Amino acid sequence: MPSSDCLFCRIISGEIPATKVYEDDTLVAFNDISPQAPMHALIVPREHVATLNDLGEKHDAIVGAMIRRAAAIASERGYAVSGYRTVFNCNADAGQAVFHIHLHVLGGRKMGWPPG
Ligand code: 5GP
Ligand code: ZN
Repeated sequence: MPSSDCLFCRIISGEIPATKVYEDDTLVAFNDISPQAPMHALIVPREHVATLNDLGEKHDAIVGAMIRRAAAIASERGYAVSGYRTVFNCNADAGQAVFHIHLHVLGGRKMGWPPG
């Protein structure tokens, strides 16, 4: 259920503006407000799910669609061959700041490993 306290629910509903790059019945993708690479999009399910720990079997198709959408966005922007990174942060040690699951899709520069 949408939460009026959740930033990404408010972006999904259009209450808060964002540059949306894709949307369908289950997913919305928009550019990160503070991009960490030339491409930095966030892919979110329309359903409010706070963290990866809250996913159930019923979400398997949505998560699969999120990952395939990340590949499609990267491909559209020309990064399929050069490469790109996808990241889900979960809870404090990973630096999760918005508690509505989101898949980061970053590309257009060489990424370091291990991540900071
Ligand atoms: P997290 O740290 O939770 O994995 O990532 C949250 C992301 O949301 C960050 O990369 C941050 O820049 C992005 N973000 C935070 N507030 C906004 C906003 O109002 N609009 C957009 N488009 N992105 C946001
Ligand atoms: Zn939400």
